[in-house]
This record gives sequence, structure tokens and C-alpha cells, in this order.
Amino acid sequence: MSALVERLLSPPVNPGGRHQPARPSWDCQVCAGPWPCPAGRTELHGTFAGDKVGLSMHMGVVLHLAVHEISPDVDGQLFGRFVTWTR
Ligand SMILES: [Zn+2]
Repeated sequence: MSALVERLLSPPVNPGGRHQPARPSWDCQVCAGPWPCPAGRTELHGTFAGDKVGLSMHMGVVLHLAVHEISPDVDGQLFGRFVTWTR
């Protein structure tokens, strides 16, 4: 399990004010919008430093976690929210 996934699974400790999800709502801990919010996406792009395949794979794992906590997935919108933007 990657460090990022482990961080997502851990209790919400966010001393740096990073745009991370609050679970099980998956809303951003900072701006309260649906995560990944625009700032959260920017942070993720920075974390993966141009590795779009790695970012897409990570977000696929995150989607797998989120789909069990966010229901129902109306019209498959969660795929777009969590994965499509990584392209
Ligand atoms: Zn945010």
C-alpha cells in the first residue's frame, strides 16, 4: 500500500493545511468542496511530479476506497471526479 493511500486511511491529521479528504464524506478538509478540489488536484500533481500514470493508478485506488463510502454513485460520476482529471 502506498504512503498516500495509508495517509488517506489514517485519522484526519492535517497540520499543514493540505487539501485532503475528510472521510467518509470525501469532502476537502480545507475548502469543504468535493475532493479532490482544484487545490487538492494541484497538490497531487505536485506530489506525483509529472508521473501521470502513477497519479492515475493512485486515484484509481482512491476511487475504490471512496466508492464504498460515497453512495450511490449516480451515473458513474465518481470516476470523473477521482480519475478522469488526471489525464
Ligand atoms: Zn480543498
